[in-house]
Amino acid sequence: MATPNRQVRLGARPVGLPTPDDWQHTTEDVPEPGAGEFLVRTEYVSLDPAMRGWMNDARSYIRPVRIGEIMRAAALGKVVASNHPGFAVGDHVTGTFGVQEYAVSDGRGVIRADPAVAPLPTYLGVLGLTGLTAWFGLLDVGRPEAGDTVVVSGAAGAVGGVVGQIAKHLGCRVVGIAGGAEKCRLVTEEFGFDACVDYRSGDLRAALREHTPDGVDVYFDNVGGEILDLVLTRLRLGARVVLCGAISQYNATERPTGPANYLSLLVNRASMTGMLVFDYADRYGEGMAALADLLATGAVTAREHVVEGTVDDFPEVLLKLFTGENTGKLLLRIADR
Ligand code: NAP
Repeated sequence: MATPNRQVRLGARPVGLPTPDDWQHTTEDVPEPGAGEFLVRTEYVSLDPAMRGWMNDARSYIRPVRIGEIMRAAALGKVVASNHPGFAVGDHVTGTFGVQEYAVSDGRGVIRADPAVAPLPTYLGVLGLTGLTAWFGLLDVGRPEAGDTVVVSGAAGAVGGVVGQIAKHLGCRVVGIAGGAEKCRLVTEEFGFDACVDYRSGDLRAALREHTPDGVDVYFDNVGGEILDLVLTRLRLGARVVLCGAISQYNATERPTGPANYLSLLVNRASMTGMLVFDYADRYGEGMAALADLLATGAVTAREHVVEGTVDDFPEVLLKLFTGENTGKLLLRIADR
């Protein structure tokens, strides 16, 4: 009897937060790898805020997931059959394998994960696209110098937590913004930021003023919306705003209002630049090597938030990103079959 392959497909385009009706759960036979291909059994699925954007029928940096298509997702798995000379049975690999238990790959865009270098989940976190986003976004776009004040939103999250730790390593003064006292404790005590502002309580404007008395040289923006608007009021001359993400807007059902304080960019001859990690694909090896060194020396701590389950749990786990239930890189570990 053929082995079943459970899959989660996009069922409908969501309005606001995705609901169970927006998904289809299907079962197919596990496919046979053809010539030059290999079969991967999924062990961890990466949950990323960008997935919400991929569900919309809108022009973006990548085509939308089609209705009825397996949901696009990065994942880590083990090669269980191979007709590919570069990948052997037993190898661990990451790639865009989708929300399913098994995937066939021809090796394009696949990166090998070496459990001797780092625990496997870290290959979807600090050593995966989130860590690479932090690395290239901060260094290439933020261009921090020692002594700079760097503010990071989503500071207890996958990208933000790494951004702040790299900035500390470079000798910057680092202020995080996160939701809740417990997350702020993690950001300062475990990630080593100098300060963290809880945007869910109190006066964010006053807290930012208190913690950035000399203004902000680099703002790494993961959330957009009101928080971006407030940080714009703190920019210093020549500041760099890294537009990495805008999670506060991803489920909006109305048009977002633009940042009212954008003239601060003019006054301070500052820049606000969008960055996309995929643009650095030919430098991933360089970034991974640098991040592996930072992990090895303890300059950066990897934190993954692993939920145990099956691929069918994906829709529910995805929502944790939007309710702020995750700390660190959110992953779904697929139970052994
Ligand atoms: P994450 O930060 O690990 O998780 C999302 C976090 O966002 C939540 O834990 C929550 O933390 C916060 N959040 C949710 N709703 C919010 C709201 N309305 N206002 C403020 N904060 C809110 O996710 P991630 O994977 O590291 O991604 C962070 C950002 O980077 C996202 O915007 C993502 O799209 C972006 N990104 C961009 C690229 C690129 O190439 N440009 C690549 C990867 C990721 P709190 O509890 O602190 O609110």
